[in-house]
Parts: sequence; C-alpha cells; structure tokens
Amino acid sequence: MTTKQFKAESKRLLEMMINSIYTQKEIFLRELISNASDAIDKIYYKALTDDSLTFHKEDYYIKVSADKAARTLTIADTGIGMTEEDLENNLGIIAKSGSLAFKKENEAKDGHNIIGQFGVGFYAAFMVADEVTVISKALGSDQAFQWHSEGTEGYSITPTEKDTVGTIITLKIKENTEDDQYDEYLEEYRLKAIIKKYSDFIRYPIKMDISGS
Ligand code: ADP
Ligand code: MG
Repeated sequence: MTTKQFKAESKRLLEMMINSIYTQKEIFLRELISNASDAIDKIYYKALTDDSLTFHKEDYYIKVSADKAARTLTIADTGIGMTEEDLENNLGIIAKSGSLAFKKENEAKDGHNIIGQFGVGFYAAFMVADEVTVISKALGSDQAFQWHSEGTEGYSITPTEKDTVGTIITLKIKENTEDDQYDEYLEEYRLKAIIKKYSDFIRYPIKMDISGS
C-alpha cells in the first residue's frame, strides 16, 4: 500500500483549513451532508431514466452517528457511491471547486467570512478531524473501496467490504485543546443544532444515532 500525495492546490487548501483562522468549524457538517444529498440526487435522477432501477424514497437517507468513546462521527448515505477512480479524482484533487480561486482573490479584502458563504467541500472535514476514512461502493460495482487520510501528508485507497451501495465517511474528531473545543461535535444537541441551522432544506431524512459517553 502506497500513500499518495495530494495535488499541490489541495495541499495548500488543506493546510489553510486546518490551520485556519476561521471560527465556523461547524460548517464541515453542512458540506458532508450536502455531498450525501447530492449523491442521493444522482441515484434518484438515474432511476428516473433507467428502467432497471427502481427508486423507493424510503431507501434513501443520510445517517449521522457519533461514538463518544471512540471519538468518531460518521456520515453515511445511500447515494450513488464512488468507484476507486472517483475516490482518486474527487477526493485526491480539488477538481472544480472555485473556492480556492475565490479565496485568493478576496484574501486581502476580507480574510474571515468567506468560508461561511462559500461551499468549501469535503476537505472541511479536516477542520474538526485528524483522520478521515471514506468507505464507498458505487452503483453497478461489486467492489467497495476505502479512502483514508490523516491530513496534508496524503491519502491511501484500498479495497474493502461493503454490502450496499453508498458512502460512509468517518471522522476521528480532534482532541480538545486549550484554544479549541471539538468534543461538542460528538454531542447530539450540538449536531442537531448544526443540522437545523444549515441543512433544514435537505430533501432526504437525516437520522441520528449517538452512543458512548
Ligand atoms: P463539490 O460538492 O463542490 O463537488 P466536494 O469537495 O464537496 O465538492 O466534493 C467533491 C466530490 O466528491 C463531489 O463532487 C462528489 O463527486 C464526490 N463526493 C463527495 N462526497 C460524496 C458522497 N457522499 N457520495 C458520493 N460522492 C461524493
Ligand atoms: Mg460538496
């Protein structure tokens, strides 16, 4: 297994986020839930035009689970999933995100509120997590893959097992420091409040399951 390096721009954005001056770390959850919702949309639209697929609305949902003892927060979806190639192309590089260019342009003008207005995407997970694992099985694929990264050093992709199509993203939540609190991202009341604030419009059910103490 080899660890691959993030492309230069991704590395720069990652570092910027991890060491960021931004206070709105909570928006990571908005980004992950919106990706989950997009993935379900994709399977939904495919089902509309592909007769071999049937779409049962109740089969499609997002599940947010926290395990306080393990310090893990998991966002799972029953969306279209990602192939090995998708994991490589979508999570290894910042393909089409305009947020970096936008940030560069506006850095001098307003250093702090950009992140709140702009979709920053998947990498926002690293604002609250020191380790991110993505397990995904794509629609029409027999093999699932795991993408794993501990931050700016890079990521690895390995084959894994997953029964159903969709994606499970697990964040290992950072330990509290003197300056920053992260425990709250494992608390049900806090997660519910973030979801209410940013994800109220999501069209699929968001289930929640909190365990440990
Ligand atoms: P954006 O959503 O603006 O494209 P992101 O950084 O949020 O940028 O996500 C990058 C890409 O990774 C998405 O476009 C999508 O292709 C893929 N992706 C991320 N999360 C998921 C998911 N839960 N299921 C399927 N694909 C995903
Ligand atoms: Mg996104």
